[in-house]
Amino acid sequence: MNLETVKKEFISELGNAQDLNSLNEIRINYLGKKSVLTELSKNLGNLSLEERKEQGVKINELRNFITEQIESLKESLELTKINQTLESSKIDVTLPAFKIKQGSAHPIEKITEQIEEFFIAMGYDVVEGPEVEQDLYNFEMLNLPKGHPARDAQDTFYIKGDEFLLRSQTSPVQVRTMLANKEKTAIRILCPGKTYRRDNDDASHSHNFTQIEGLLVDKNISLADLKGTFDLLMKHLFGENRLTRFRPSYYPFTEPSVEMDVSCFNCQQKGCNICKNTGWITIGGAGMVHPNVLNMSGYDSEKYTGFAFGFGAERIAMLKYGITDIRTFYNNDLRFIRQFDQRVGENNEN
Ligand SMILES: [Zn+2]
Repeated sequence: MNLETVKKEFISELGNAQDLNSLNEIRINYLGKKSVLTELSKNLGNLSLEERKEQGVKINELRNFITEQIESLKESLELTKINQTLESSKIDVTLPAFKIKQGSAHPIEKITEQIEEFFIAMGYDVVEGPEVEQDLYNFEMLNLPKGHPARDAQDTFYIKGDEFLLRSQTSPVQVRTMLANKEKTAIRILCPGKTYRRDNDDASHSHNFTQIEGLLVDKNISLADLKGTFDLLMKHLFGENRLTRFRPSYYPFTEPSVEMDVSCFNCQQKGCNICKNTGWITIGGAGMVHPNVLNMSGYDSEKYTGFAFGFGAERIAMLKYGITDIRTFYNNDLRFIRQFDQRVGENNEN
């Protein structure tokens, strides 16, 4: 086969090459070890010196030509392939995006944080304690010795004998804080947390609920300080025009003890079903810390006085948001929880 024929055939085949694979086959056929050019090079030895020189130059020229042509087509085919890939994976930026679902805080968590912020601004520390408590801290140190009839009011989950229990209130955190304060200096704490009582669950009772308690111990503290604190808190939560009142009550760990009421924000005290037509809504219990409780924790009740208060975060949230069933807080229905995304920080200004 002469070189001209080889060149013509090569050009013809190259014209038909559609992709990199077929181009590679052409390269092997024309430049590989078994190609025509290699055969012709091997046969150079059979030629005369003159013919060898002439033929050798021609073979080299053709080899260079073929190499250049293949390289050139290879580059262009590779570019085409890249463009095809880019085209097929193109993103349409005008399509609407998938909505990213955001989590949101549970309404109880939000109410708790709102109350915490209020007390932190007044110099209180937020303190937490264990949910599995000893009878000692949950009852005895709070002036509720074993056999005290008021223990029945807090039907308790005991865990091991009569020594370990699920705390029925967050008051043990107050006891622990007073005991830990070795210098017996003033204390201002807020104790939010889960508590447990053997209640049958219904629309207004839950065996598990969130209590928020506060304790202030200092010199010259009186019931008026408690009243002022409660009054400010109710205005903060339910609006500037709220009135507050105390009614006498009984708790073993406070003396005197009071029930704390706020004027109905729903009916402006004209009477409605939220306030049961009384114009007042009970928020929680409070009182001056019983001298026995102070003394048991190492405080001198002759020098120090203090007040303590407690209420349920669920109750505040139910009142504030008009929720009628406490169980909805624990059903983990996202539709319920998402309703409260924008509502924290609003006051019911009436
Ligand atoms: Zn009312």
